[in-house]
Amino acid sequence: MAELDLSDKTNLIEGAVGDVVTAFLSNPPADVPSEVIEALSLHMASNDASLPPRLFYEVVEHLAVAISITDTKANILYANPAFEQLTSYHSMELVGKNQSILSHKKTPKAMYEQLWAALSAGKKWSGTLLNERKDGAPYLADLTVAPVFSEDGQVTHYLGIHRDVTEMTLLQTRVHNQKNMIETVIDMAPVVIAMLDENGKVMVENSAYKVLMTDMGGREPVDEFFTVLTDVLGENFKGLRKKRRNFDSVEIRVDVGGAKGTRWFSCSGTWVDNEEITADAYFDKKRRSGLLLVCTENTKQMRHFEEAKTNAIKALMAEQQASEGISEIVSAAIFQLQGPINMISAAVELLDRGAGDPENLKSLLKQVQHSGQEALERLQDSMPDSAREPRMPVNINELVREIMDITFDRLLRENVVVSWNPTPILPAVMGRPNALRSMLKHLVDNAVDAVNEPGASDREFSIVTHATKDGQVQVIITDTGPGMADAIRTKAFEPFFVGWQKKRRSRSGMGLSIVQEVLNDHGGSLDVFNEFSGGCRITVTLPVDHDGGWGHHE
Ligand code: FAD
Repeated sequence: MAELDLSDKTNLIEGAVGDVVTAFLSNPPADVPSEVIEALSLHMASNDASLPPRLFYEVVEHLAVAISITDTKANILYANPAFEQLTSYHSMELVGKNQSILSHKKTPKAMYEQLWAALSAGKKWSGTLLNERKDGAPYLADLTVAPVFSEDGQVTHYLGIHRDVTEMTLLQTRVHNQKNMIETVIDMAPVVIAMLDENGKVMVENSAYKVLMTDMGGREPVDEFFTVLTDVLGENFKGLRKKRRNFDSVEIRVDVGGAKGTRWFSCSGTWVDNEEITADAYFDKKRRSGLLLVCTENTKQMRHFEEAKTNAIKALMAEQQASEGISEIVSAAIFQLQGPINMISAAVELLDRGAGDPENLKSLLKQVQHSGQEALERLQDSMPDSAREPRMPVNINELVREIMDITFDRLLRENVVVSWNPTPILPAVMGRPNALRSMLKHLVDNAVDAVNEPGASDREFSIVTHATKDGQVQVIITDTGPGMADAIRTKAFEPFFVGWQKKRRSRSGMGLSIVQEVLNDHGGSLDVFNEFSGGCRITVTLPVDHDGGWGHHE
């Protein structure tokens, strides 16, 4: 049998090609596909330059895809250079061997059975097999096998075409895994996420978005959000898209309707460019903008904040009512005392003139006594029944948090920093929440006023809560103000005393006296220390289970 190295193109293309091919054709190796022999014969016989059969042969030789031709038992008769390169076998090692030389034992038998079932039925088969190279290295082969028929319809050969798709497949798997992971994270995220196309239509949404949509009775949440966002940002979706304007943490409230009522969200939007994935966009890159909308729900915090505000307003109203009551009583007292005082003045005048008849004077003094008595009785009668709020278990941390919430704007405005360190688990104090709220509000207001005083070292104060071993709760407020001078400390708890250097119209001087009254009512106490570093430390101590002696008043 003549020896022919089909892989050596230089033999075929240059010089000796004619001799080699002639020798080959004179005694072709057994089972060389008739198509190959036919093509070569045609080439040798033809001087026609238009698409000579050799051209087809050259094409197969140059193809970057592995091509093999086998007999009907899958014994290799021909393998092109790309096949050699991919498998690391030389074609001479391949010719005569079965295609199973490439088989890797991890390929399921069923794959080969499918392949052979198709070929046996005269059909082509495509699929992915696990192959191994000469050195045993595995690779994924995307294989197509097809039967080659003789003129009388008999299968004479099989044609195999395969590519190494390992990298592509692994890449696809990696992309798929990443996509899966990202989708799961987005879907599980406890925030509402939606990707909008350039017309504001939702392209992708997560579970939280879908739940919100159900809560909204099927209305599109994005539409509701943009009605509010347009107001807040002063621009609608189109305007934002034109300027590619992103936005961050925009607080909005949406009336969801139904049982859920008003809900609060903090929304951020980021414009994202997507490349169009059509074939004609490969060279002519087309970008489409989309908006990634991420909305974090703040409803719980906002409800808490609103509640704190309502509670604080209630406390302040109760306090205002109390002080209005006091001023009413004081006015009434002034009016009632006016009579006896006028009589005393008249008596003094009589005495001054020396015209005082002791009997007259005596009866005048009796009248003074009488009208004084009457005034006292009337005042006592007009004392309002104090409808004190009932006592209940109160979490002091919660009250401090509420006061911090409602003082937040002022702190921000006045650039005051607070460090708030609650003891995580604090026993509940049996007390009157509104009274305790106003007590804490006065103390916090005082701390802010203190750091605003001349001589304050920093604009900071701290609040610490603490449970003592003997079952008391302490609130310690330490400011960086000028501290409390001894002279002021003795008077600070008197009603209407104002010791601030910086006068403020809003301060009536009742703060600390109200604090003292609330503490008396709760069996608590207050200590004032001047810190070494300047500033004032106020420690309020409240017993946890004090019945305050007022159990029987209620
Ligand atoms: P085999 O005994 O060869 O085959 C397994 C089963 O296939 C058998 O039990 C039988 O049911 C069926 N089968 C085998 N031969 C025939 C037949 N002549 N007629 C009908 N059914 C039959 N395999 C690869 O692993 N990688 C390749 O890249 C690859 N390329 C191929 C290209 C061509 C053109 C052809 C025709 C086959 C190719 N094969 C390839 C299949 C290969 O010939 C083997 O069938 C396969 O590798 C399994 O080998 P095996 O020794 O484990 O089992």
